[in-house]
Amino acid sequence: MSAHPQRIAVLPGDGIGREVIAEVMQLAEAVRRGGHLVATWEELDWGAERYLATGQAMPSGGIEYLRDFDAILVGAFGDPRIPDFAHARQILLGMRFELDLFINLRSVRCFEERLNPLKSVQARDIDLVIVRENTEGLYCGAGGTLHAGTPHEVAVQEMIVTRMGVERIIRAAFEFARARPRRKVTLVDKANVLRFAGELWQRTFGEVAAEFPDVAKDHLYADTAAMELVRNPGRFDVVVTENLFGDVLSDLAATLGGGLGLAASANLHPGRVSMFAPVHGSAPDIAGAGRANPLAAVASFGLLLRHVGHPALADALDAAVTATVRDDIVTPDLGGKRTTAEVGEAVRERMLEQLKA
Ligand code: ATP
Repeated sequence: MSAHPQRIAVLPGDGIGREVIAEVMQLAEAVRRGGHLVATWEELDWGAERYLATGQAMPSGGIEYLRDFDAILVGAFGDPRIPDFAHARQILLGMRFELDLFINLRSVRCFEERLNPLKSVQARDIDLVIVRENTEGLYCGAGGTLHAGTPHEVAVQEMIVTRMGVERIIRAAFEFARARPRRKVTLVDKANVLRFAGELWQRTFGEVAAEFPDVAKDHLYADTAAMELVRNPGRFDVVVTENLFGDVLSDLAATLGGGLGLAASANLHPGRVSMFAPVHGSAPDIAGAGRANPLAAVASFGLLLRHVGHPALADALDAAVTATVRDDIVTPDLGGKRTTAEVGEAVRERMLEQLKA
């Protein structure tokens, strides 16, 4: 364990984000009080209420302020009163681009047979990581509109791919694979149609792979990858892919792991402050009802702990989440009747038991 207290910025955000992060904070506090973690957290009130009151979702210089932290934990941003997501974009895209969080990582495991949506596959075969390029590709925002509102209207949306961007995400994928037992990276692209971008991805993939002779590599087109994720997810270990394909495939993969209530994500820049958040949004339909599943946020905190150098705590947290689901202490999204607070308490108890063992 590192000696200096680690500083964690906590942004609960909106809707169920606040409810699930409250559970994570109780858990983190219990772990800290038990002497297992030397850390401080600072909660920031960025989000919809602040935006509606001031026109700004965060104070000026807010993103810069985050650089001084060891990690950032986020709940969710989204509010029906702000239909264009302006406040969420300020915060989430601000972090992604200004902090250059170029890796979006989704780790997908299915803990329990009853959460497995596939008939032909066992839960234990679902264990994969999707490494999505997070800063360029088709989502880089390049393009424009001509003759808007006329019959001659033209919209252009460009896919921008850089050697630097592709190389660093592929290298990160191989590093992740090297730390996993199966040591395999699958490149997913659409090089048969998107030829120019595809050629750069494929050539770079081959060159970076040569630096990792101990890691197996293969390749699938994005449409085949979607099919294979459902047909035979066991063939995947680490998947590396462009922003748009990663967006779509990682939601598909989240379903294999038991759905949004369990899906965790990390937005990383190795060696710099990185951000951890559940995959789900603010879910206004269930906000305030005590129905939100806190386990995706808890699992995101597990990814955070692993990233800031506490693998044993992260393992204990994974085991605590698994035990909570196995003991059927779950919210309605997983077929249970328990409240957010009851699930939070159960996972906290199991975490402390793990740490005693
Ligand atoms: P946003 O607009 O902020 O993305 P959303 O409601 O459109 O929010 P999500 O919150 O990602 O999208 O999820 C869609 C639905 O899935 C929610 O409306 C909710 O019913 C359900 N859901 C999402 N997360 C959870 C959770 N943690 N626990 C229980 N149900 C959830």
